[in-house]
Order: sequence, then C-alpha cells, then structure tokens
Amino acid sequence: MRDFISKRAMGVDASGIRKVFDLAAKMKDPINFSIGLPDFDVPESVKNVAIEAIRRGDNRYTQTQGIAPLRERLRKELSKEIGRDVGEVLITSGVSGGLFLAILATIDPGDEAVFLDPYFVMYKHLLTMAGGRAVMVDSYPDFRFHADRVEKAITARTKLLILNSPSNPTGVVMTEAEVQSAVELARKHDLLIVSDEIYEPFLYDMPRGLPSAAKSYEKTIVLRGFSKSHAMTGWRVGYACGPDAVIGQMTKLQQYTFVCAPSPFQQAALAAMDVPMNNYASAYRKKRDIVYSSLSKKFELVKPEGAFYAFPKAPKGMSATDFVTRAIDKNVLIIPGGVFSERDTHFRISYATTDEKLAQGCEILNSLA
Ligand code: PMP
Repeated sequence: MRDFISKRAMGVDASGIRKVFDLAAKMKDPINFSIGLPDFDVPESVKNVAIEAIRRGDNRYTQTQGIAPLRERLRKELSKEIGRDVGEVLITSGVSGGLFLAILATIDPGDEAVFLDPYFVMYKHLLTMAGGRAVMVDSYPDFRFHADRVEKAITARTKLLILNSPSNPTGVVMTEAEVQSAVELARKHDLLIVSDEIYEPFLYDMPRGLPSAAKSYEKTIVLRGFSKSHAMTGWRVGYACGPDAVIGQMTKLQQYTFVCAPSPFQQAALAAMDVPMNNYASAYRKKRDIVYSSLSKKFELVKPEGAFYAFPKAPKGMSATDFVTRAIDKNVLIIPGGVFSERDTHFRISYATTDEKLAQGCEILNSLA
C-alpha cells in the first residue's frame, strides 16, 4: 500500500507518554500521580451557565476571536495586571490552541525556538510540526533560568524564547530577576517571548503575583486559560494577548483551523471569572507542603513554588524509567522524566489528588528509595 503518512507526522515521536498510558491501562485503581489536571470539578454555578447557554441555543460559531464580553473582560483584567493596555485578546481552544497558533504564526522552516529542559512536551512537538527547531537548554539540577546558558543557545535563526512559569513538570516559578534577565536577552537578540502562564492561579510563595515578561517587554505573547484554573480541561478555553501583528495572524490562522473556541464554554468561562478559586490554591499549597516534606527526606527534590507538580530525582544508580517501573509494580503511577526532558533521571508527580492518597503514595515512593 502507498505510504500516506507525512514526514511531518512521522517526525513527531510521542512514544514516551504512550508507554506510560499503556502501563497505566493495566493498573487497577492505582494511586494516580500522573494526571495533569486539578482534582476538583468545575464549580456548579459555572456548569449551570454552560447548560443554560446550550439550552438557550448558544450552540453556533462565535466570532473567530471569541465572544466580545469575554474578550473585553480579559483585556481589562490583563491590562490592569500588566500595567498597560494589552490590546485585543484572542480566545483560543485551550492554551494548546494558543501555542499551536503562536508557533504557526511565527516559525518558518529552520527557525529556532529556545526553552528550558525539562519542558512541557507540546513545545517540542509543535515546533517539529511547524518545521522549526526546538533548542533545549539544560536547567538541571535547580531548574532555574540561567541567562548565560540560554544565551549560548541563541543563534541568528532564533525567533522565540518560550517561558513556562509556573513550570510543568518542575513546579518552579521564575523570580522577577530571572524574568528580567530573560527580557534582556530577548531585547538584545530581538526575540519574541512566548510566555505560557497557564498555572498562574497556582502560585504558593509569591504574594505579589506572577512575574511576567509582558510587564516589561511588549514583544511578549501571554498564554493563559481556564483548563487548570477552573478544572475545565475538556471545555477547551484559553486566551492569548500580545503584539497586534502576531495576534492578528493567529486570529487569521484560527479561522482556518479551530474556527473558534466552543461557544457555550466561552459563556461559562466568562461566568467562571467571578468565581473565587483561592481556596483551591490554598489547598494545593498544603498538598505541595505534604509532598515536599515527605519526599525531600529520601529524594533530591527542588521545592515546587507553583502548579501542582514535583520533579524528584530517581534514587542513585537507577534510571527514572527503572524507578517508575518499580513504583508501578507497587501501584503508584508516576511519569518518567524522559517524557519532559532529554534526561531520564527524574520523575514527575502530580499532587492534584486527595491528601490521603498523597500521603499513601509518598510513603510507598519513600519505601522504594
Ligand atoms: N501549557 C502547559 C505548561 C500545560 O501543562 C498544559 C496542559 N497540560 C497546556 C499548556 C495546555 O493546556 P490546555 O490546552 O488544556 O489549556
């Protein structure tokens, strides 16, 4: 038979995460530390708004850029936070949709995007799909933004600097000084910053809010969304703001790909903005404390400052894959670091689960170490 599969598709290697899913499928009622979404459900009042919207007949396409009340509300709030008018906000199909459009709108074949390793997997694969080159900068063992290392990776082909704070998978949050050093690099080499801030609501040690490159550098695309903040990962609503020229191109590309974010869920997202979620962040801070105080006794572990992930190092003499296999034998599902990294030395825990499961799972992991 003729081989119908494109080189583009063949170029994307998703074998790492698939192996984990295959293993997970065989487990019965595991202590599941693998899931990248909150353990609470969408607030009832927000569900009702979605249901009402469907009943009312809000089931058609919206404008490509999203419904006006949601865009206006987000523009107002983002502008206040960032300290200048952020311009038009584009409602995307999740932050994934925003990432896809941002990369498609900016990356030509051979163009490079620089980001830290460990990284959110999608960056690498989207860049491959776009014909670009993912340039990863090793950030072990502290997972911090070291400007000197990043600058060495910048070439004449570098167009994007992708930042992810709070980070998936490490939970590290960039300090104000780190963000400033990233901005300086971007200025010096004329780069566009793509700032993935999806975990902004889950910030544990930053009472003054998330340091964002957008506050001091206008050539920043900010990507945020409702998937994690309101546990609506399946509803596919995110948003993007940044330089008009880029947002304009992203909007055009959305017209011919996603068309628009789901209509009733855009209504629900607007309602979600009035539902305070601070209680959840406080609950997650407690979970972070449980994980850190328990696992740091036996594992090398950088204290997570945001999101709901921890990224401990596998015990000495063991690869992450070996350790994960042992953990799975004991019914604890964790993800080997190789899925998020060029190294196979660490593993990711999602601590978005009950305190009870968390304590149980940590005890098992400690006993394995
Ligand atoms: N960025 C990061 C860092 C993520 O962890 C995720 C989800 N796991 C996304 C983007 C995409 O989220 P969504 O498309 O659901 O908004």
